[in-house]
Amino acid sequence: MSPTLEGGCACGALRYRFASGPMFVHCCHCRDCQRQTGSAFVLNALIETNRVEKLSGETKAIATPTDSGQPHHIHRCASCGTAIWSHYGGVLALSFVRVGTLDEPSALPPNVHIYTRSKLPWVALPPGVPAFDAYYDSKKLWPAASLERRKAIFG
Ligand SMILES: [Zn+2]
Ligand SMILES: [Zn+2]
Repeated sequence: MSPTLEGGCACGALRYRFASGPMFVHCCHCRDCQRQTGSAFVLNALIETNRVEKLSGETKAIATPTDSGQPHHIHRCASCGTAIWSHYGGVLALSFVRVGTLDEPSALPPNVHIYTRSKLPWVALPPGVPAFDAYYDSKKLWPAASLERRKAIFG
């Protein structure tokens, strides 16, 4: 893993740094993520919000509808609109940080592929990485240390 996980938006106004590695990394192939990114999938690093240090810039939160009816707030650079991180279901203590905004996105490969039921047919998944039609049970998949961190957020 890269010693410092830093990243930022396209215009450079917004910069951030991780205080530690993430708990887990999702590659999500759901239709919402495809629409929001205009691409085949999204890469999200799940990390405590208080471990994402904002170095510069401001974000603007935009509430985006989801199937569950719970809000999905996407935080975008206030200047250029690059999506940087999200909070799902109003859980502000947990951030889903867009791995593609890291200076070295290769530092955080996905730990799981989810919602592969809508995966684009020409995307080939690597062997050895768990993949699920829809969501999955984090208790069965996450390392113990990450589950401890998760428990600190959700109780
Ligand atoms: Zn920007
Ligand atoms: Zn998704």
